[in-house]
Parts: sequence; C-alpha cells; structure tokens
Amino acid sequence: MTTCNEPDRLLALRKLNLLDTAPTEAFDRITRMAARVFGLPIAAVSLTDSDRQWFKSRVGVVHTSIPRIKAPCATVSGSGDMLVVNDLQEDPFFRDSPLAHSGVRFYAGAPLITSDGFNLGAMCVLGLEPRSISSTERDALTDLAAMVMSQIELQHTLGRVDPLSGMPNRKQFIEDYADLQMDRPHGEPRVAVLVNMANQEQLNNAARVMGASYFDDLMNEAIVSYRAVMGSEHKVYQLAATQFITIAPPGTDDGAGEGSYRARLAHWLDSRGAWSTSRFVTTPAIGIAPFLLGRTDCLDVLRIAQNAMQDAHQTGQLIGSYSSAQDDAYRRRFTLLNAFDAALADTSQLRLVYQPRIDLTSGRCIGAEALLRWRHPELGDVPPGEFMPVVEQTSMVRAATSWVIREAVRQLAAWHAAGLQLQMSVNVSAANLLEADFVSTVTALLNQHRMAPGWLELEVTESAIMENQGTALATLAALDQAGVRLAIDDFGTGYSSLSYLQSMPAHVVKIDQSFVRNMAGGERNRTLVNTMISLSHELGFRVVAEGIETDDVRQLLRDQGCDEGQGYLFARPLAPDDLFAWCARAEASEAAPRKPWAPICAALPSLAPHTAA
Ligand code: C2E
Ligand code: MG
Ligand code: MG
Repeated sequence: MTTCNEPDRLLALRKLNLLDTAPTEAFDRITRMAARVFGLPIAAVSLTDSDRQWFKSRVGVVHTSIPRIKAPCATVSGSGDMLVVNDLQEDPFFRDSPLAHSGVRFYAGAPLITSDGFNLGAMCVLGLEPRSISSTERDALTDLAAMVMSQIELQHTLGRVDPLSGMPNRKQFIEDYADLQMDRPHGEPRVAVLVNMANQEQLNNAARVMGASYFDDLMNEAIVSYRAVMGSEHKVYQLAATQFITIAPPGTDDGAGEGSYRARLAHWLDSRGAWSTSRFVTTPAIGIAPFLLGRTDCLDVLRIAQNAMQDAHQTGQLIGSYSSAQDDAYRRRFTLLNAFDAALADTSQLRLVYQPRIDLTSGRCIGAEALLRWRHPELGDVPPGEFMPVVEQTSMVRAATSWVIREAVRQLAAWHAAGLQLQMSVNVSAANLLEADFVSTVTALLNQHRMAPGWLELEVTESAIMENQGTALATLAALDQAGVRLAIDDFGTGYSSLSYLQSMPAHVVKIDQSFVRNMAGGERNRTLVNTMISLSHELGFRVVAEGIETDDVRQLLRDQGCDEGQGYLFARPLAPDDLFAWCARAEASEAAPRKPWAPICAALPSLAPHTAA
C-alpha cells in the first residue's frame, strides 16, 4: 500500500536525511549493477524532492538533479508503479520533456517505497536508443529498487537502536517525540517515566565482577516485565546501560493514590524478586516527569526525568517526582557554575571582606576572617553560602581557594606593613586538602610576602576532614609542621567525634553560630556551649565563638572562658580599608575607661551593622 499525501511524503523523505548527502559506495554499487544488467549507459537512484529529481547515485549522468516537471521518475513516485517508456520521443506526454530533449529515448523506473508506504522516487535505467523490457528485466529492476530501499532503511535505523540490546535509543526517542508533538501541538498533559536499574557505583562494581554484558540481561528482564505489568502499549527507549524511558499512555496522572500509575510502578519495582534473575543487588530508582506534549521541549523532558530519578537515588526513595521548585534550583546552580567559571577568569567580580575577631578578655581585635564576595554583573551579589557548596563539587574550587589565599595573604602583608598586626583566617574546602601541592603553594606564598606562617590560619570544617580522612589529615599535619595555624570551623555541626578531635593537628575550635545564637534561649543551650568550650580547652584548643549578636551572649561566653568571638555585635565583614579604619579608631579610644570590648562599638556606631557585608 502506498501513501499519496504529498506533504507527508516529503516529510518522510526529509526525515531520512538523504537529500544532498555525499555519494556512497553502497548505493553506487547497486546503480552500476543496474546499468550492467540492462547493458545501458545511464542508471540512477532518483529521489523526488518538491521541485527536483535529486540523484543519490548515478552512472552516466553529469547533473546531480533535474527539474521535477515532466521527469519520468516523478511519475513513478506519484503512482507508486513501475514505469517503462520505450521511446520518450514518441511518447505523447514525455516527448517535450527536458529528458527527451537531451537525447534520452528509453526509460524504465521502479518505485522506491518505504515500509510506511511512502514513494521516495525511482531506481531507473535510461538508454539513448528506443528499447523494450523483458519480464526478467522487470523483476531485476524491482529487486534492485528493493535493494536500494533496504540500504536506505538500514542507514536510517543505524544509530537509532542500541547496538547491544536492539532497543530504540535516545535519538529515536527524540525523533518519535517530535512526531508526537506534531500530532498534539496544543499542549496535552503527559507523563514520562525514566527507570534506572542501578546507581553508578553498582554499575561499576557489577561490570567489574560480572562483566559488562551483565546489565543487558538485567535490562531485558526489566523491560519485558515493565511492559507486562504496566501495559504493552508502552514504547520503551534505552538511554544508557542501566536506563530506559517511556511515555505513559494519555490520561495517566502522576498522583500517588491507590491504583494510580505511581502505585503500579512501585508495585512493579517491589515485585522485582519475581521477574529478576539477577544475583547482584542493585538499587533501582524511577524519575517521573509530567510535561505538556506540544509545549515542553524533548530535551527538557529528558532532563527533568533524569533529575527526578537522581533525586530518588539520593534520597533513597524508589520514585522521585519532578518539582518545579527543585528544577529552578538545578537551573540556578547550573547558571552559577558557568558564571563562576567566568568570574575566575575575570576576577574583578570577586573581592574579599574581612570580619574582625575579638579577644573576649581584652576586647581587642586580634585577627580577621577573609570572606569571599561575588558580584555578578546580572545576578548581583551571590552569597558564598549559595555558590561555594556548588563550586566545591567541581575542580573550580582549586582556583577559587588559590585566588582567596593569594588575595588574603597580600592583604595581610599590606596591613602588617602599615602597622596593623592581625592574624588572617582563610576558609579552605575539603578538595583543597587533597591537592598534592597545596602545602608548598601556601608556604611559598607566605615566603613571597615575607610573612611568618603563624600569621595565617586556615579554617576547615569537620566534614571536610572526614570526607577523606587519611589525605586530609596528612595535609593538615604538613601545614602544622610548616607553622600555619589551623582551625576547625562550624564546630558541632559535623561528625564531632571526640576521638578524631583528639588526633586533629589543629589549634583553634570555632563553635558554630547556631549554638551561640541559641545560648540566650535556655539553660540547656548554655550548658552545651559550656561543655564544648571546656572539652576543647582540655584538648588544648583555643576557642572562638561565631555569630555573637548580643552583649548578653558575649558576656556569657566570656564568663564561660571562651577565648575569642566574632559576630555582628562587634562588626560585620568589612572592606579592607574600613577594617583598617575600624581598628585604628578602636585603638585610639583604648585609653578611656571601658568594658573590654565597649570602645570598639561605642566609637563606631556606624559600623554595626556595616554595609560591606
Ligand atoms: P563561615 O566560614 O562559618 O563564616 C562565617 C559566616 O557567618 C559569614 O557568612 C559571616 O558573614 C557570618 N556571620 C558572622 N557573624 C555573624 C553574626 O553575628 N550573625 C550572623 N547571622 N552571621 C554572621 P558568609 O560570609 O556569608 O559566609 C558563609 C560561609 O561561606 C562561610 O561560613 C564559609 O563556609 C563560606 N565561605 C565564605 N568565604 C569563603 C571562602 O573564601 N572559601 C571557602 N571555602 N568558603 C567560604
Ligand atoms: Mg570560616
Ligand atoms: Mg563557621
């Protein structure tokens, strides 16, 4: 059966991506064979485009195309039947065709019909003398046309199926999705379901132990049982070694009620003991992505389904759903990453601010913590609490910390040269402790600025150390050896194992602000902080309290023996010149009778809170 709708026919032809492609031996071989079988000088694989016959392959023809008007091949693709014209010049229709005028007398063409019934053009042979055709030759021409079609369909299919499983792949999903969109251009609600049969670690382990082909069987079983349980109308596409995607039938909603599609999915996964012969334990996860067919871009569907599946893996659930809030967060993170990469190249977007660290007994500023600030030209100020955790997941963290330490040590040296003898604290990330040249870079920098290592303190969180204990501890020990001071930042929020605290080559414990802030709230919180202070002292650490916002809390901490404090009560993080001025004014008012810390704030009412934060 052939399909006559010309727009559809043209669409089918275009989708094969054959027009205006380079000649290939696979087609030329068939064309040469056709010329030889008929003993004729001209043969061609001729495709009927909107206004031309374009030759995918040709023998004895100079042109790559001829006008479609009055071309016999166009008649073949129009009718879907073989056409034989013994003498074009005697034929009432073709007599005045360009082909007849060029001296061609004989034409025989067999239609090129796709499995969907579209006539693409003709496999044709042409002669310069009138001629007839035997029934054997008719059969041969039909066979040659069939060979051309096999070649076309083979080429088209290649790259659209997974070579191992034979399943349609991602490329095919994208093409089929485009077709579906064309049928429903006005936004039909549908649900995509992405199934991942194992997480990355399991994939690696199983491949090592069982061989890579292990997952082919697992996937086959999963797909067969999925269609058996969820419905055979599901067309399943393999996206990766352990992942497949399908679009649930129209009318499916992503709700969680009893008997819902989601409940059936959960049941299918729960029952995998019954359909899986796998001896390897894997943790499957499913991502559900509702979308509007005709409105949502295919790549967006793939992306949100992937994200939902990743969420399920990460949260230890079987099924994760796309949520637009989550998706906005992913997009924002993605934007931040790209933008931060650019900021590292053009560091004018980056600057450091410095928050004073106060000795709680004397009330004097004895140090400052360098805190990174990023002002993006369009996004505006992005807080480090938002971008650092994202940057820390990438190799950019190396360049980021390197820039911060360089800038902070340069500032430290400048202050010292100007007579302001502060200690500088810099935050470093877990990944920095794994850099082979981290210690040598830091010490070289200090040498370059002629600063004794003890003026620099590096702050590391407990979790950063625990992430890669061996190497991290070795780096800390080397820094300690070099004379650099070390502080455990955000103490109390991480693992807080006492045994590790004992073995830590650090000098300072910074109690996290969440504990400090709550101190005024009750006896329990005060006792908790008190315990942290005594314990840290017993282990030989100096103790700093972060986030002191009120005088009551400052007083409590001082009474409990806390050594130093940092917080908005004293000052917000300041631009370097402001910090210098702040310290100078504080020193100037030292002579006046005061509470230990009072002159600092009393002298500087405008600096609390300060704008530089
Ligand atoms: P952190 O190292 O614990 O720094 C203290 C944070 O608490 C700073 O926030 C500071 O502005 C804020 N803070 C200080 N006193 C108070 C107070 O009294 N009340 C309140 N509510 N907050 C106070 P910031 O600058 O936004 O930095 C947040 C976090 O970002 C830092 O926490 C640190 O973990 C990270 N960070 C900042 N700069 C860098 C950097 O250069 N490198 C790395 N790796 N991380 C950085
Ligand atoms: Mg810190
Ligand atoms: Mg902290």
